[in-house]
Amino acid sequence: MAEVPNFPRPVPDFDAQEFWDGCNRDELLMQRCADCSRFRWLPRPMCPYCNSLRHEWITMSGKGTVYSWTIITHPVHPAAVEKVPYNVTQVQLDEDPTLVMVTNLVNVQNDDIRMGMPVQVVFEEHEPGVKLAKFQPA
Ligand SMILES: [Zn+2]
Repeated sequence: MAEVPNFPRPVPDFDAQEFWDGCNRDELLMQRCADCSRFRWLPRPMCPYCNSLRHEWITMSGKGTVYSWTIITHPVHPAAVEKVPYNVTQVQLDEDPTLVMVTNLVNVQNDDIRMGMPVQVVFEEHEPGVKLAKFQPA
């Protein structure tokens, strides 16, 4: 599904730039602490577990399960008028249950979304040069 051109685009900050660069290469990247080896999401400069400032970016499998979801029926932005109803879904990544991404499921009817549904990342072009990580049934 093509995105409405004026739908808000992500504005990468310093900590998240690598994540968005990965999306543009069709790679789902997560930060992992270089000291205690725990993953974290959202990207941030300091490990919330051991306070280390060292991290690495790990390419994930892109596999996960539906943790929760909601259906948006009231457009909260003018660009969403043509998109409602649409889902906003939390996907828990297979590698670590603490990695829960807020995203959209695509290639599925909203009524067919189920908790625990296996899903796989897919990268959709939001606008030229900007891809978003979304998920579809695995
Ligand atoms: Zn750590």
